[in-house]
Amino acid sequence: MAGSGMKEVVLNPEREFSVLRRHPWIFSGAVAAVNGEPGPGETVRVVSSAGMVLGAGAYSPESQIRVRMWTFTADTHVDKDLVYCRVARAIGSRAVLLAEASTDAFRLINAEADGMPGVIVDKYRDWLVCQFTTAGAEYWKREIIEALMVYMPCRGIYERSEADVRKHEGLTDKAGLLSGEMPPERIEISEHGCRYLVDVRGGQKTGFYLDQRDNRKTVALYANGCEVLNAFSYTGGFGVAALKAGAQSVTHVDISESALQMARDNTSLNVCDLDCSEFIHGSVFDVLRKFRDQGRCFDMVVLDPPKFADSKGSLMKAARGYKDINLLGFKLLRPGGLLATFSCSGIMTPDLFRKVVSDAAVDAQRDVQLTAHMQQATDHPQGLCFPEGFYLKGMLCRVW
Ligand code: SAH
Repeated sequence: MAGSGMKEVVLNPEREFSVLRRHPWIFSGAVAAVNGEPGPGETVRVVSSAGMVLGAGAYSPESQIRVRMWTFTADTHVDKDLVYCRVARAIGSRAVLLAEASTDAFRLINAEADGMPGVIVDKYRDWLVCQFTTAGAEYWKREIIEALMVYMPCRGIYERSEADVRKHEGLTDKAGLLSGEMPPERIEISEHGCRYLVDVRGGQKTGFYLDQRDNRKTVALYANGCEVLNAFSYTGGFGVAALKAGAQSVTHVDISESALQMARDNTSLNVCDLDCSEFIHGSVFDVLRKFRDQGRCFDMVVLDPPKFADSKGSLMKAARGYKDINLLGFKLLRPGGLLATFSCSGIMTPDLFRKVVSDAAVDAQRDVQLTAHMQQATDHPQGLCFPEGFYLKGMLCRVW
């Protein structure tokens, strides 16, 4: 071990390229040697085969992603000050958003993109909700919470570390209060003039899909007078925004009964009654087929499915799923109608997604214009050298 006695990981010469390109993940196959038996989450110096110091990262003995980089500098010191700096930097970079009067729910820390692999922090009005998904994030958890209390004072900090990736890191799920007051069962947030109830303790992810904020606004812009189908509605997001913007009616479809109940409550919160809203419990694949067979039509269809693919192995099956729902979506649209279609599978590239949706248009025998590209909201930035951070892609299509 060279120098200060710090534990270190030595890379294979043919696998150094990505670290030199500032990519934050080092896979187990890129590691030639580990010196000093680092524990889970402990900081290791990352060294090239020729002995050059490339930076420092968090070691994760059980994960295929063996090291996640904290820094790419020769100064490999990772301590409380660095953690505080990163938290301050992430919050500071969202100052413009945080000043926005119409919205009070944001992502404050977006993992790798904010120099904090495995750390997700969402702000729902006066509460923060955290996910620590990696050994390195878990290792620095206390410091991260302290820094949040300094830089983003709030009523309480709640943990929802229940992501699948924790298993690959050798971590078990954790949820509960980390600091301050327990969040209420439902926190009411505002987003571009809509109000939504968020169940941060029991809802999906940290409670709400904040990454779709800008896209809900885009959909609302076109929704006036439309009959809208909100497929994979979750708690109503797109549909409620559309209704508030003057949609004639909204049909929500989701497989989760509790999400639909919340969609009902969110509708009541924003418009006086439920008369123009329909809530269908079932699988989108079945419900859309049924609508097609019944000859039902809409002016706008939103397709925001969950992640269909999480590995290269599941990509082709996922592509068939995306094609299926998009084909049905096209068929249900009146001429001149709009399809807002999304994929949140990071492994599916924008090019492949476009190909799948265009294949669906061909099979549906419809002329389709691509009106706008959509993506994750600006509080979910991606590291420029970390393409995996770009996961949410959307297209707004006009269908003739
Ligand atoms: N558009 C939403 C987020 C959608 S998340 C928003 O803006 O808030 C994806 C949703 O799809 C989840 O609510 C999940 O319950 C639902 N879902 C997953 N598989 C489904 C299926 N086969 N049919 C219907 N809903 C499904």
